[in-house]
Order: sequence, then structure tokens, then C-alpha cells
Amino acid sequence: MGTKGREIVGMDVDKLIELLNKAFADEWLAYYQYWIGAQVVKGPMKEAVIGELTQHANDELRHAEMLVTRIIQLGGTPVLKPEDWYKVTNCGYDAPEDPFVRTILDQNIHGEQCAIDVYQHLLEITKEKDPITYNMALQILEDEVEHEEDLQALLEDLEALA
Ligand code: FE
Ligand code: FE
Ligand code: MG
Repeated sequence: MGTKGREIVGMDVDKLIELLNKAFADEWLAYYQYWIGAQVVKGPMKEAVIGELTQHANDELRHAEMLVTRIIQLGGTPVLKPEDWYKVTNCGYDAPEDPFVRTILDQNIHGEQCAIDVYQHLLEITKEKDPITYNMALQILEDEVEHEEDLQALLEDLEALA
């Protein structure tokens, strides 16, 4: 932990770490949801969808890395056990039990919409209090907004086929 780095945060740092850990759990679950979805997906436009899901999986893993870096900088302990992801997550996990492309896209769009709310909230609470976390949340939010739009565009293309 950087002591001065923690001191300059103008808010309850333990509360902030708790919120960062919740987002960290979300990112791991989102990573796996995309990754396993890309393995099992079936239906029209499968190749394009696999490409997008795989790219998003990589982005979610990168978000987890950004969050863990900030948690450790602030003197926190990241969630250490996968079983705890389920206990602290905001957005949960939707298993791709129905591998049809439309269902998987819907599940992931729902996940992105939840993620957008999570980072929007983090931006609101860190604004003018913690510019480093604010900047990180902004970078992640930009990706989540892009993810939602990418998936919705795929869904539109899919519907145009029908
Ligand atoms: Fe993410
Ligand atoms: Fe995302
Ligand atoms: Mg994309």
C-alpha cells in the first residue's frame, strides 16, 4: 500500500475497496460468461459472434487486472476465492444453458447494462474525491458501453436474417 496515495483519497477508503472488490468479482464472472459462451454458442452468424465474445472476454479480464491493481494500491485485499465472487457480485452470472446465439447475446447485453450502472455509480462517488479510481472507472465504462453496442448490433443483424 502507498500510504500517501491512500491518504489523498477524499472518501472512505475501506468502503471504496469493498465496491472495487464487487466490481472485480463481476469482471471475473463476465470473463467466464463470455469465454464459455464463445465455446458453446450455436446458430446463425456463429463465427462473428464467437469473435466478439472472445474479444469481450479478453477485455473483462483486463478490467479485472485494472481493478486488482487499484485495490492493492489502496491497501485492500482482492477477493481471493472464486466461491466469493458469487457472494459479492453486483451483476451475477448467467450460464449459457441455452447455447442459441440469440439467448447468449441477450444474456450478455443484460450483463453489460448492469456493468454500465456499476461503473456509472463508481464515477459518481469518486468524482473530485479520487481521480485515479475515477479515471480507471471511466476507461472501463467506455469499454462496457462499446460492448453493449457491439452485441446489440449483432442482434440487429441476426434479426435482419430472420
Ligand atoms: Fe468489464
Ligand atoms: Fe463488458
Ligand atoms: Mg467488441
